[in-house]
Amino acid sequence: MRLAFFGAGGKVGRALVPRLEAAGHEIRGFDLGDEPELDGCDAAVDFTTPEAAAENVRLALESGVSCVVGTTGWEPAELGALAAERGLRLFVAPNFSLGAVLMMRFAREAAEHFPRAEIVELHNEAKRDAPSGTARATAQLIGGGPAIHSVRLPGLVAHQEVIFGGEGQLLTIRHDTTGRESFADGVLLALSRLGELPPGLTIGLETLLS
Ligand code: NAP
Repeated sequence: MRLAFFGAGGKVGRALVPRLEAAGHEIRGFDLGDEPELDGCDAAVDFTTPEAAAENVRLALESGVSCVVGTTGWEPAELGALAAERGLRLFVAPNFSLGAVLMMRFAREAAEHFPRAEIVELHNEAKRDAPSGTARATAQLIGGGPAIHSVRLPGLVAHQEVIFGGEGQLLTIRHDTTGRESFADGVLLALSRLGELPPGLTIGLETLLS
């Protein structure tokens, strides 16, 4: 596909662009201050900032281009409605790492048996939003309003523990992202399935996994 990549020069962008190119996609990269030229693009990918993502997605949808968005900390519902109106797709996932999606799935299963849980999410100090989108999505999935603890320190990439407490036992489900390349498989999966999704907003990589 011919892809517009918003945030190509960012930490995630620098890890993903070579992977997407190696998979055969043609990338047009944009960063802050660029004049995005979307003519001829089949889809747009966005890993930028919460403020920039909404603007980039609106521009893409108004140019007739469907979007895959990894940026967290923004509210996609309104633009999902615009996508639906135009017969386009807006796919948003708080976490494109397959391991993290499985961690959430296992946590949902554990929550059926353990009434108490807390979430600890740990990210690099540069991450702007807290709690993380993945932690909020996990909390929603397991229900019961679990406390979320956010840690921001240098040396961390993206990590999450869901700790379940019961009488005389603890169950910890943990996922560690040690490199941003981990997001590539999820983005490639979303791009490959984008055309099959219903027009409008789809949230979460788990919707693409059987
Ligand atoms: P980052 O290193 O700060 O990169 C952000 C990039 O966006 C920079 O290259 C920045 O350009 C660019 N940018 C800012 N405004 C822009 C605009 N208006 N148009 C185009 N590009 C613009 O951040 P990151 O670590 O790569 O993370 C990016 C986002 O992805 C964050 O929201 C993060 O939480 C999220 N994320 C999601 C996942 C997931 O799996 N869903 C995984 C990791 C991260 P300048 O450098 O020129 O400002």
